[in-house]
Amino acid sequence: MEAELQTHVAFHLTGRRPAAGLDAVDALLLTPALFARYRDLTRLRYDFPLVLVRNPVPGSCAQPLCGLLDRVLQEIGDGDDGERVSRHVLRLERQIRTLVGEGVRGSVASLWDAAADRLSVRTDPSLQDSLKRARSALKIEGEIVDCDAAMPAALFTHAWRVVQERRAKKLAGDISRLAVKLSEILRADFARSDAGRSAGSLRASIGDAHGGSFDFDAMSRLLTKAAPKSAMPPKRRQRIEWLLSVLEAQAFVPVAGKRGPAYTFAFDSCTAAVAAYRERYSKVTELAKAIAIAELEIKGEYREAAHGDYFAAYGSDGLDPEELALFPDYLVCLNAAALDAVESATLLELLSAGLPIKVLVQSDDILEESQLGDGHLSFGTKSRQLANMAIGLSEVFVLQSAASNLVQVRDRIERGLAYAGPALFSVFSGATGNAGELSAYLVAAAAMESRAFPAFTFDPSAGTDWASRFDLGSNPQIDRDWPLHEFTYETPEHQRAGEEVAFTLVHFVACDRRYTRHFARVPRADWNAKMVPVGESLAREQKGLPETIPTLLMVDAGNLLQKVLVDDKVMREARRYREMWHSLQELGGVHNSHAERLLARERKAQDERERAIAEARGLEPAPQPAAAAAAPAVSAAAAAAAAAPEPSPDEAYIETARCTSCNECTKINDKLFAYNENKQAYIANPDAGTYAQLVEAAESCQVSIIHPGKPRNANEPGVAELMQRAEAFR
Ligand code: SF4
Repeated sequence: MEAELQTHVAFHLTGRRPAAGLDAVDALLLTPALFARYRDLTRLRYDFPLVLVRNPVPGSCAQPLCGLLDRVLQEIGDGDDGERVSRHVLRLERQIRTLVGEGVRGSVASLWDAAADRLSVRTDPSLQDSLKRARSALKIEGEIVDCDAAMPAALFTHAWRVVQERRAKKLAGDISRLAVKLSEILRADFARSDAGRSAGSLRASIGDAHGGSFDFDAMSRLLTKAAPKSAMPPKRRQRIEWLLSVLEAQAFVPVAGKRGPAYTFAFDSCTAAVAAYRERYSKVTELAKAIAIAELEIKGEYREAAHGDYFAAYGSDGLDPEELALFPDYLVCLNAAALDAVESATLLELLSAGLPIKVLVQSDDILEESQLGDGHLSFGTKSRQLANMAIGLSEVFVLQSAASNLVQVRDRIERGLAYAGPALFSVFSGATGNAGELSAYLVAAAAMESRAFPAFTFDPSAGTDWASRFDLGSNPQIDRDWPLHEFTYETPEHQRAGEEVAFTLVHFVACDRRYTRHFARVPRADWNAKMVPVGESLAREQKGLPETIPTLLMVDAGNLLQKVLVDDKVMREARRYREMWHSLQELGGVHNSHAERLLARERKAQDERERAIAEARGLEPAPQPAAAAAAPAVSAAAAAAAAAPEPSPDEAYIETARCTSCNECTKINDKLFAYNENKQAYIANPDAGTYAQLVEAAESCQVSIIHPGKPRNANEPGVAELMQRAEAFR
């Protein structure tokens, strides 16, 4: 044991594996044990595939396929044959997921047809009937995408188009309205002029049908003598004609009956976008000025003396963000790997200048080694610097998220794209190419879970303080250093065992084949009590030589549990990331050191006040229970959870503390499932829904924390099959 410990300590400190006693992990194809149940994503209902919805309502430009089908089933799955229809639709959904996993892309309709063909729908009348009914209830169409390297740009481009179309529609409507009103002013003036009252003009205005009944020469003489002459000064006429020429020549948005816009606004480099913006700036200013003057003209409020100088200098100091917000924004989709010095400088320039440009920077690799080389680890520096710099500019909308989480923040994506000013979206795709068989979705989710790439939003339009602007809420278990997960497995003795595992940066690094040298497998016979989980090791203060060695539970290709030692280099990096996470927590108002210091000061002052009052009354102050005085405030929910009895496996329950607030269950039935004050789900009323909904929610829950228990209504249709499905969640 002592010799083994020495070997393990030596590896941990030096990262050098001895010739015997520890195995290299390169060829073992290990993945963190927590991923074991996610190996085959086609079996899981989760946020992908994703539908990029055509003509969406605000906030729903992208929707998970499974969510769309759930709504279809809610609509048609209530009848006697509801269970059969549900089963068939879920089979179809899985088939679509398989097709997408194989790289097939297309619209919902085309993938639906392809999946139905694979299920041999033509030879099964009941399947044909189920799918026909489901198809007619599915009112949404759009392209289907998977969580891969191409998805972030596809999703942002789609969401950007949706936002731009709304904006373009408004601008085109304004331009048409102004052009019509201005033309009417000119027409009315012409009608009062000599030319307008000429016999030819009068004849043209009446038309051929009644032309024979009138003496246009007599009418013209009469009108010319009786009516006043044109009242429009030539300068005004020229101004209105100029306004009309600008409105009609604009090339920013398509206007009904006019030629389409000549400009494109989507670019793949900041340099090109800024050049286009500069080149068009005089046209934007001219159009904004024309719109402002036209509004005054049609109300009859334009005064040369009052407005002439103002409009002569219009736009010379740049347009306000609100004025620019009338026009299409620019979109730039970049890959961080292509961000050279020129692009980086241009990006910084456009963000700090407040240009109306939305930039997506996609990172495919956040575990690149430090530029210092020589084995130095310094992960994710580029994307982190970029986001920090943008936040520091204070007027830039910033959203950072792993690709796996983009569905959850789609409303914020739309908000950022509609923001009147620059926006930076930093996204980690998960498509590293270095994670072996792990899907990009799992790698992206692991980056967020391990705090390697936390999600946050900085929205300058949300308020003036950090509490309003900065949001960290979509990260899992934000008040912890590392999210905790229940891990159960079967022992060699075929017993069920379980433990709580903290998912740390080390787990994320262990997914990357480039860093296998930092890990070493310990043969099962050598497992000992000095090998402790990484999470536990990170929680301990490190002093002197280690007495325990951090280990990671992993599984091999055959799902056999393995333990690997972790070297100190990776552990140090994990501690560094934990410190960065602490800084983010503070910005997000979690464990804020200023607030906690203030709270402690207030508590102390309160104690002193109570002591002084007690002394004045000649009473002994009530002793403070030390733990209660020192303990941080605990939420009512946490206290209730601590006091709660062990739930019965027969009753439906949710492991509320582990809820990631993904909305899946509440979308299924918001009476049955509800959120507590921490926005974590619980069973609000078990009688407010069906057992089928409980089972469906359990299957939809990405973290598998919904336990449907036993059915309350033994006569519910399909209860036997539902109970079978619920077995997986007992
Ligand atoms: S309990 Fe509901 S809200 Fe919470 S993670 Fe599961 S499905 Fe999402």
